[in-house]
Amino acid sequence: MPLYQTSAVVLRSMRLGDADKLVTFFTQRHGKIKAVAKGALKPKSRFGGRLEPFNLVNMIAFGKEKAELLSLNSCDIVEMFPALSADLDTMARAWTCAEFVDHMQRDRDENSKGFRLLVSTWRALAREKDTLRQGLLLRIFELKYLETAGFKPVLDKCAGCSGKISSHGAGFSARRGGAVCRNCYKTDPVALSVSAGALMLMNKGLELPIEKVGRLAAGKGGVEEIEKAVAEFIRAHIRRELRTEKFFRIALIPAAAAKG
Ligand SMILES: [Zn+2]
Repeated sequence: MPLYQTSAVVLRSMRLGDADKLVTFFTQRHGKIKAVAKGALKPKSRFGGRLEPFNLVNMIAFGKEKAELLSLNSCDIVEMFPALSADLDTMARAWTCAEFVDHMQRDRDENSKGFRLLVSTWRALAREKDTLRQGLLLRIFELKYLETAGFKPVLDKCAGCSGKISSHGAGFSARRGGAVCRNCYKTDPVALSVSAGALMLMNKGLELPIEKVGRLAAGKGGVEEIEKAVAEFIRAHIRRELRTEKFFRIALIPAAAAKG
């Protein structure tokens, strides 16, 4: 039986029967895999608390070549991110990253670039205390992840006519695949009004490694524009709203707005 030995992060884990856990891992070498951790709920289980979300681990699992469920043999912690669970805002953002990967990533589809991106984003989120910058990090993570799947928005010119994006006004059209100039914006009934500054910020965020995104100067208005544009882009490509995202918008955006 093939052996799967790889670095991985725990995306989620759930109870399975009385004693076992079903764990969804995003692995460096084999993409997303699901494994049963036998006896994980027993008090003296060898897995202890290692199967909690946000843990970076080294895991060994066994299973047939195309089996949907593998059997988890061992799981050792490499890195934990306690700061991600320290407050509700940060936790919701870290969850949104995990859920995004869970939805985007097909089982057994290798995406080591996406794996490294998720780990780097969690590290950056754990370090970043500013709510606005965390929000920007999350949006840029989503854009970068979409890029690993072959979806990259056009941001340096108009996605409609290839013309220049003027600082006097621009927009974003998920249908056309990115930024649009003033003229294309006017003739596109579903395009969002997004400033040239916000488009530039998105473009810079995509160019920089995720750990440096926190250095970008971002205002509240710009981050809100980016949030709307990225949400439209995701909807156009994955066509369903993420559960955590829904919770996040309902529960946290009004709280954040009240603060500002
Ligand atoms: Zn145009």
